[in-house]
Amino acid sequence: MSDPAKPARYDVVIVGAGFSGLYMLHKTRALGLTARVIEAGDGVGGTWHWNRYPGARVDIESQEYSYSFSPELDEEWVWSERYASQPELLAYLNHVADRFDLRRDIDLETTVTAAVYDEAARRWTVTTDRGETLSARFCVMATGCLSIPKDIDIPGADTFAGPTYHTGRWPKEGVDFTGQRVAVIGTGSSAIQSIPMIAEQAARLTVFQRTPNFSVPAHNRAPDPAVVEDWRANREAYRQEAKTSGFGIRYVNATEQLALETPPEERRKNYEERWSYGGFALIGAYADLLADKAANQTAAEFVSDKIRGIVKDPKIAEKLVPKTYPIATKRLCVDTGYYATFNRDNVTLVDLKEEPIETITPTGVKTAAGEYEVDAIVFAIGFDAMTGALNRIDIKGRGGVALKDKWAAGPRTYLGLMVAGFPNLFIVTGPGSPSVLANMAVAIEQHVDWIAGCIGYLSERQMGAIEATEAAENDWVAHVNEVGETTLFPLANSWYVGANVPGKPRVFMPYIGGLGVYREKCDEVAAKGYEGFRLESAAA
Ligand code: FAD
Ligand code: NAP
Repeated sequence: MSDPAKPARYDVVIVGAGFSGLYMLHKTRALGLTARVIEAGDGVGGTWHWNRYPGARVDIESQEYSYSFSPELDEEWVWSERYASQPELLAYLNHVADRFDLRRDIDLETTVTAAVYDEAARRWTVTTDRGETLSARFCVMATGCLSIPKDIDIPGADTFAGPTYHTGRWPKEGVDFTGQRVAVIGTGSSAIQSIPMIAEQAARLTVFQRTPNFSVPAHNRAPDPAVVEDWRANREAYRQEAKTSGFGIRYVNATEQLALETPPEERRKNYEERWSYGGFALIGAYADLLADKAANQTAAEFVSDKIRGIVKDPKIAEKLVPKTYPIATKRLCVDTGYYATFNRDNVTLVDLKEEPIETITPTGVKTAAGEYEVDAIVFAIGFDAMTGALNRIDIKGRGGVALKDKWAAGPRTYLGLMVAGFPNLFIVTGPGSPSVLANMAVAIEQHVDWIAGCIGYLSERQMGAIEATEAAENDWVAHVNEVGETTLFPLANSWYVGANVPGKPRVFMPYIGGLGVYREKCDEVAAKGYEGFRLESAAA
């Protein structure tokens, strides 16, 4: 452990060793700079280290949800499923850590508790829960958008006598539910992936649903050899297509065609084809699906009819059909056998809109209609998304201003990458960036490339600091809000707007202008000598 009075000195401290932190370290080294990565978990992989619940897998085709920076890595890694499972994704990220010799600069089981900017020295002092202090010119927060599980906000949770699990902190050794009565609380993506698996194992599964979600089938399988070969032959072009696309996903194949200008029969056929293809293809069917309520309704009706067709009991089917928000304005889920699970004799759906949870008791879950006795509870209740990890670190910028105070009414950034008043502090996939509305592997590479480019630019010119100006930040926040308002996203009570966490300000946090457009904007800013940023020479 380093002496707090004499902190270990680095050019860059990177917080987090997921997809973002690993690549950031690789890029920093390529600049010839020294770096240290601090990671709370006892392994690398971030999301794929923590989320080990049954059924966890990516919902973007594996070859697209991967790094593109190394053609050799791309060539040698072979995915075994169309949508890779959590163990395979974790193995991939561990392979990346080994292949690029990253581990020697990563500290595991260490949590960053504070990061304070020293204006005179133009350095960040980073403190960890091990009492260590590090000093760095640049601090990169690669802390993840979905890395902090939401606190359990249900009364009585601590009185339950049996085991409880959060999907985002699943035990490494796995959980055997054989013969047990299990409750799953929540019906977001994590629940929708795990429910079919738990139902197969448990004696009885009771699903507590507050808001139903739209889900489309993954049609997961071994990769089609023809697709693999086609991808290999055209990799560079396909990667480029994904990078410049709106969602960072080539196969979604978004069109300029409008749902409302398409005859109903033709529209249905298109939806049917995309449903058969699987995954997010459905939402790429028409350009107006996320902007026009009536257009959106055509897709929502299509999926609602599918739910009614799959679920045999019409009353249960009706409870599973979302009716209060446009499709995909809460993140669209991608499943394997989710709706059909409710045809099983051992599965019960409890609609919390009809019978809200009153309390968790030592023996089960008590709703307004009675108590459901269970042996184990799975909380699939989501995350304190986008700002959670950053607000848990005591980040102080110029004048000792705390980031969480600056963000008290909602996050403010320039390009999602930097914050006025916090020089030399970068955020990967921060609020105000497309991040969670895109294939995050592609979004992360874009961010890290930009940040590395910026650090390289400053280092070459021996500049002391870079900081977003208030004016540029204000304009960007206004733009993010303005673009958000042109879509249907703000209509849903989603984690995109912070509605899942009691007391969190309601702000639409990601940028929905499209990843390709965003990339162009970031590149333009850099090409103009970092327009909207204030640069300080080392001597100033
Ligand atoms: P993370 O992987 O979250 O890594 C951040 C790391 O920072 C974590 O390991 C965390 O422990 C660490 N950290 C945070 N705070 C501190 C601190 N103070 N000190 C030290 N360490 C800290 N995206 C997609 O595009 N497609 C998908 O299909 C998809 N599926 C997902 C499934 C699940 C279950 C979840 C939760 C998310 C999914 N995502 C998906 C989003 C996913 O988070 C990103 O794709 C990507 O893995 C994020 O990488 P990251 O490195 O930015 O963040
Ligand atoms: P989530 O989407 O936020 O879902 C949480 C669920 O828990 C919701 O159904 C929510 O209901 C419910 N809930 C929360 N608090 C509750 C309470 N107090 N009482 C009852 N119900 C409560 O979280 P998630 O499923 O973990 O997914 C988060 C994000 O991670 C996803 O949107 C996605 O981006 C990513 N993810 C991706 C995949 C994938 O397919 N690859 C898998 C998992 C996660 P309300 O809707 O009413 O709030």
